[in-house]
Amino acid sequence: MNHDSKLLIDKLESDGALSSGEYLALLAGNRPETAQYLFERARAVRQRVYGDEVYTRGLIEFTSYCKNDCYYCGIRKSNQAAERYRLDKGQILECCAAGYDLGFRTFVLQGGEDPFYSDEKIADIVRAIKKAHPDCAVTLSLGEKNRESYEAYYAAGADRYLLRHETADENHYGKLHPQEMSLQRRQQCLWDLKDIGYQVGCGFMAGSPYQTNECLVADLLFIKELDPHMVGIGPFIPHNATPFAAHPAGSLELTLFLLGIIRLMLPGVLLPVTTALGTIHPAGREKGVLAGGNVVMPNLSPLNVRKKYMLYDNKICTGDEAAECRNCLAGRMESVGYRLVVDRGDYKAVKAI
Ligand code: SAH
Repeated sequence: MNHDSKLLIDKLESDGALSSGEYLALLAGNRPETAQYLFERARAVRQRVYGDEVYTRGLIEFTSYCKNDCYYCGIRKSNQAAERYRLDKGQILECCAAGYDLGFRTFVLQGGEDPFYSDEKIADIVRAIKKAHPDCAVTLSLGEKNRESYEAYYAAGADRYLLRHETADENHYGKLHPQEMSLQRRQQCLWDLKDIGYQVGCGFMAGSPYQTNECLVADLLFIKELDPHMVGIGPFIPHNATPFAAHPAGSLELTLFLLGIIRLMLPGVLLPVTTALGTIHPAGREKGVLAGGNVVMPNLSPLNVRKKYMLYDNKICTGDEAAECRNCLAGRMESVGYRLVVDRGDYKAVKAI
């Protein structure tokens, strides 16, 4: 292994941060032996904070309608071929009840930005879930809203909010999104969410079109500054009916390397190994946990809508019952020495040592 890379990894572990130039050098030095060392250190850190526990969240994809037109996303509004659906409160509660019986203690409501669900409707759904399952956490992932809306969901009982910033480089942001969307607005949403009191998750796609190592450095610096409770990172995967259909998927190696870096930057962070990672490699999620990940988010959406929430091509697990998914993941985690637990899986605050 390159001596400098090892020093950078050691420094990242002890300080929880590097300079821009050092991050660039670390990213440029991503070779198998360097990556193995990074993952070893990331595992040691996650072991210290979370032991061998892997948290689960039941993902409920409750609407495939979206008013936005992000170039990478399969449910963008311009995709006329996308099949659209909405789940009502009763269906969402059924998903939660089934999930609860399977051992889920966090439910994630994710969807396109769908104005059909007014703030009152969302707050009502959140209240109903918390009433039925007071021992569970509710995570929302509904995109950009104004501060008052976020406050209303929080008052209704929502605990966490996932909003990937997508890229912290202004120019890159403009290549992934139409003009009416802005990085500044998205980042402001994250600051608002944090200020309100949510456990907050940002994140981005590894290997998205036009992403450079400089963009990744901007992402790492922003993540350190925001100091979020969760970071969602998965590979970009092209969707055939989007402007990025012909772009290559992000690589397993890059995604894993970034997971390892983020674990060292934020020792207590909740770091999901994503479905997208399991889609680009059959053992992607196992490798993700071995690189520092500690959360899995299997799908609890009803089977008849699963194939309609296609953000990218070839998404896995769209035909499996929630119970099968949970058992399958439990086995996968055990195969690499970790175990799924029945737990809300809250953030544990720790300082970098
Ligand atoms: N509307 C919500 C949820 C978006 S979907 C929001 O704005 O936050 C959740 C995440 O899926 C996105 O943030 C994006 O990073 C990811 N995603 C979308 N298209 C993708 C693709 N083609 N490949 C991989 N990930 C994708």
